[in-house]
Amino acid sequence: GLEDVGDFLRFLPRRYIDPATTTDLSQLHEDEYTVVVATVQTATTRPMRQRRGTMLTVVVTDKDNNEMTLTFFKPYGHVDRLRPGRTGLFAGKIQRFRSSWQLAHPNYELFDEEDAADAIETYAGGLVPVYLEVPKLDSWNITKAARLVFHQLDDVPDPVPEELRSQHRLTGLLHAYKLLHLPRTRADVKRGLDRLRYDEAFTIQTVLAQRRIATEHLRTTPRLPRVGGLLEAFDARMPFELTAGQQEVSAEIARDLANEHPMHRLLQGEVGSGKTVVALRAMLSVIDSGGQAALLAPTEVLASQHFRSITTMLGDLAQGGMLGGSEIGTQVKLLTGSQPTGIRRKSLLDAASGDAGIVIGTHALIQEHVQFFDLGLVVIDEQHRFGVEQRDALRSKGKQPPHVLVMTATPIPRTVAMTVFGDMETSTLTELPKGRSPIATHVVSNPRWFQRTWERVAEEVRAGHQAYVVCPRIGDADPDPGSEPVATRQDSSDEDVEVTFDVDDSAPAPPRELRSVLEMEVELQDNPALAGLRIAILHGRMSADDKDEAMRAFAAGTVDILVATTVIEVGVDVANATVMVIMDADRFGISQLHQLRGRVGRGTSTGLCLLVTETESEAVQDRLNSVAATNDGFDLARLDLEQRREGDVLGARQSGGRSQLRLLRLLRDEDLILQAREDAFAIVTADPGLEHHPVLRDVIASALDEEQAAYLERG
Ligand code: ADP
Ligand code: MG
Repeated sequence: GLEDVGDFLRFLPRRYIDPATTTDLSQLHEDEYTVVVATVQTATTRPMRQRRGTMLTVVVTDKDNNEMTLTFFKPYGHVDRLRPGRTGLFAGKIQRFRSSWQLAHPNYELFDEEDAADAIETYAGGLVPVYLEVPKLDSWNITKAARLVFHQLDDVPDPVPEELRSQHRLTGLLHAYKLLHLPRTRADVKRGLDRLRYDEAFTIQTVLAQRRIATEHLRTTPRLPRVGGLLEAFDARMPFELTAGQQEVSAEIARDLANEHPMHRLLQGEVGSGKTVVALRAMLSVIDSGGQAALLAPTEVLASQHFRSITTMLGDLAQGGMLGGSEIGTQVKLLTGSQPTGIRRKSLLDAASGDAGIVIGTHALIQEHVQFFDLGLVVIDEQHRFGVEQRDALRSKGKQPPHVLVMTATPIPRTVAMTVFGDMETSTLTELPKGRSPIATHVVSNPRWFQRTWERVAEEVRAGHQAYVVCPRIGDADPDPGSEPVATRQDSSDEDVEVTFDVDDSAPAPPRELRSVLEMEVELQDNPALAGLRIAILHGRMSADDKDEAMRAFAAGTVDILVATTVIEVGVDVANATVMVIMDADRFGISQLHQLRGRVGRGTSTGLCLLVTETESEAVQDRLNSVAATNDGFDLARLDLEQRREGDVLGARQSGGRSQLRLLRLLRDEDLILQAREDAFAIVTADPGLEHHPVLRDVIASALDEEQAAYLERG
């Protein structure tokens, strides 16, 4: 897929071997593509036992006399070349054979006989770069190509202005590539990476700065509070006091709404901190000023739950224009893809006529034919499932750009906020409403305690409460799209020269039957400890009606135990549920576990979360233990980021998440990101169209093209 020199330059080595030091054979991993520098000690040919023909066995050693065996089943042509004393590079998939390392018919490249040591030196100028394995293309051939390229190339356009480069002591772009493809020392590699990491951060921040400035130039209708309006009426009947944090954030939002620039704000907060009420109050104040609000949820379960809880909270305020409804009332409508046509058409009409003050829906809301009379505010719940493009699609629904409030499901580390949501203002809710008792979390990894887990669930139900049981799979034939396993980062060898790419090279987890909703339902029904308890299931492949029915029954208390996939992960709010059992908890990420258990910390009774696992991996147990040890979502979010690939954290759907973050690590490179952000905002403020920075402008245009293409591919 490398089509031009630019592609080639960006195709960076994944690792470097230093021939001057040890190729540490103890560091090898079975089945990994490996390149070693070694010298032939012996070469023996012998007939094969099982088959006709001969076999060549070559023993090579590295500088430290570590041994490795090379085997060739067709020795022809190799015997003459692989003579004792010859040194070269050997590459292939490495295997363990009878307690020694072995490469089966490796590719190799021998150094000049006269002066092998010198050859090593001239070969890669010091370090031997190892590239991603490409069949029939060995790393040294790529290195040869690199020599050719750097010999021919005078310069490449550099998007980072000279002042910034010298200010931050960054090397030029071409030189950075040269340092990475043909390094002499580890310091070269670091210098090259420093430059490219800065580029990544700088490019992203420039895009964000442009978006931010573009928003500032937009005009919209200011939405001012109204005396005697819906918001006042709602506040008067709210069953609780707003927390100090909720009040603060509400005030920030009210200030934004009163502005003639559209609001573009991110509301992030601890699980259960009460983001929905804050959003609802914002929606009501927009209705008070004559506008409409749309609330966008990532799943149907969540959309209909929002619909239920918002209509309940509003009471007769949600029955505007109806008999018995409040005079100042409005209407709340649900709009999802699987609604019967009649209901759906009515919702569409009410949105278009303006009768519906609040329209709640899934991505169906984004579709083109959905029209609003006067859309003043768009609230996007649990945003990390929506891409920037979808956000934009919704914003284009109004006559004027609406105000936008985005809510994240979980707390996010600062650099993530800055990178993914960097074009928005942020508000943060850290405190939970008073009277919440913290959730106690325990890891259950000893099979002796498994049955006790179910007894504990039964006790909780007998005390009048309800329980969730979460499984990683649905359990019918198809793979469950909603419960992908979580990849954990395993490569963090040498921080300084670590180069990690898009390619998933982490070893796949050994296959193990994961618990499924359907099996679990049967198993629990048969469990004597749970005899007589009412069990229902909920998963993504049920029909919308069945899902709705299951949630409704659980909310109404006619179901004791809800066995579900992660469809209940976000937003589900049933205060009477006090215990959650998460099966195969090792299959879930940290933030996901935190989010899941947030479902049982909702009432005033103590929540209990049991993380059931059969994992043997200590690292994974540590991960679960850290979830058990703290309820601080911000701490856990950092930890999550440390352990997972950026792409996973941001989600492939996130704008440029994958394509733009190749070298940058959002935690490690925090300072760099801050710096790049400052630089980018300064440049864009002075030169919004980047007229004086044509190279930067081009780089961004092509990055956005790529992003657009990726978006279209995803559909
Ligand atoms: P999240 O921030 O996770 O979306 P929710 O908005 O779902 O949290 O709120 C969690 C629960 O807390 C809801 O049942 C909500 O009604 C309740 N709640 C919100 N604010 C307060 C408050 N100030 N006092 C008491 N309960 C509150
Ligand atoms: Mg919520």
